[in-house]
Amino acid sequence: MTSIEVAGVQVDTRHYIGGQRIASAETFTNTSPIDGSFLGEFARGGKTEVDLAVEAARKAFPAWRDLGAKKRGELLENLARLIEENVETLAQIETLDNGALLRSHRRGVMPRAAMNIRFFAEWAQNELKHEDFETRGHTNKVSWDPSGVAALITPWNAPLMLATWKIGPALAAGDTVVLKPAEWTPMSASFFADLTKQAGIPDGVFNVVFGYGAEAGAPLTAHPGIARVSFTGSVPTAKLIAHAAADNLTPVSFELGGKSPLLVFEDADLDLAAHLAVEQYDNAGQVCLSGTRILVHEAVADEFAAKFAEKVAAVKQGDPRDEATDIGPQVHQKHFERIRGFVDRAKAEGADIVWGGEPNDELGGLYFKPTLVKNPRPGSEIVTAEIFGPVLCMQTFKDDDEALEMANGTEFGLAAVVVSGNREHAEKVTKNLVAGTIWVNCFFVRDLRAPFGGSKKSGIGRDGGTWSFDFYADVKNTVFAPTGWKE
Ligand code: NAD
Repeated sequence: MTSIEVAGVQVDTRHYIGGQRIASAETFTNTSPIDGSFLGEFARGGKTEVDLAVEAARKAFPAWRDLGAKKRGELLENLARLIEENVETLAQIETLDNGALLRSHRRGVMPRAAMNIRFFAEWAQNELKHEDFETRGHTNKVSWDPSGVAALITPWNAPLMLATWKIGPALAAGDTVVLKPAEWTPMSASFFADLTKQAGIPDGVFNVVFGYGAEAGAPLTAHPGIARVSFTGSVPTAKLIAHAAADNLTPVSFELGGKSPLLVFEDADLDLAAHLAVEQYDNAGQVCLSGTRILVHEAVADEFAAKFAEKVAAVKQGDPRDEATDIGPQVHQKHFERIRGFVDRAKAEGADIVWGGEPNDELGGLYFKPTLVKNPRPGSEIVTAEIFGPVLCMQTFKDDDEALEMANGTEFGLAAVVVSGNREHAEKVTKNLVAGTIWVNCFFVRDLRAPFGGSKKSGIGRDGGTWSFDFYADVKNTVFAPTGWKE
């Protein structure tokens, strides 16, 4: 079987290489986290398919580069429109595949995927203009030139949306692309590949190879024919990719994990703080940015905890296709067991589990209850490691210095949430927080022109706005003298 019917459309289970669908001798099984049901057998790519895809992308590169930014922008605009027209289909496909809420996919995630493509399409339609600089009558003309083939490796927690952060700027900059989506969630990338064809993006400009990280991801990142590696995923995988890319000195961009703090200060609006705390359970905790370490000023800790408990009691766990559901299942049995392992080990250490701490037996399957661990042992894994599930910790601090020491006290630096009612205080604190993104009295809002990425082990480089082009394009400075012209 080469395709499966999902949400009333056919989703091809083969790679998309050079505009053609290509099967592999072997396949891997894709199931739905909602109920374990079988979704399809997808082509299991390896070095052979990666070589084919890189070759197709290299072949397509000169014409795509020479098409010019404006024309590329028009084709990407078509693609953005097609995503918008297919929001419902994409939302259903993604929810079946990764178990995240259908209503979020419909109203937030898929429209945002279209916006990501449109944002970079607009830059391209404006011919990717960069600022020029004048010095002693000489013009320094700065350009973003296409760099070649971009290898994109993506995770399963927001598969298509995260891929479009990379695909948009790479294609707009004039690079061609080989995408390797996560093996637990291949479906949206396959349907998206069909949309690129409908949008008029030439064959070979966008390619998808399915398969496992070690089999398809590893040869892609080590390939001498690629110009860039952009990876979103975990720190251990990033280390493997850094080694693989080192041989060819291929530039890498890494968006990695986090263990972000959510700081509730004495002067905070505690209702708002409780609201923001509950949001950290979104997508069943499978959000890199989640503020999983709640740090509360000791003077307001009890009042905050009571308000938080009240809000958590109203959270409904269930089928992610149900409009009333707030939290769905974990993505995969292996990931579910990993989360359970963290919680069980914390329990064995005597951790204080305030709520949750176990699978939701009423629902069965991959549903793990929203969990709160109070006052974990400092330095224990539950408070230092990224769990990537609905497991939050709560600790108290006595003053700003201690809050900052705790907040900055992990190997990560992806994000932070600050809740404070005093602007001066909030500004002082944010200055000393080490994080790529800090939200003050809010969460999850970002202008696409602003940078996104992590400090410390949470990443290398930044996505968004000009930062994306600085990575995907070759930045060139051509200096024109005022003299020497014959005309
Ligand atoms: P992962 O590192 O296990 O896998 C990510 C991707 O890498 C998958 O496509 C996988 O097949 C591939 N891969 C695995 N081994 C590889 C190898 N040796 N060579 C090349 N590719 C390989 O991560 P995951 O479990 O899919 O995703 C969860 C992680 O992603 C978490 O750490 C989360 O914080 C992080 N994440 C970060 C961001 C961000 O923007 N910072 C966003 C979402 C997720």
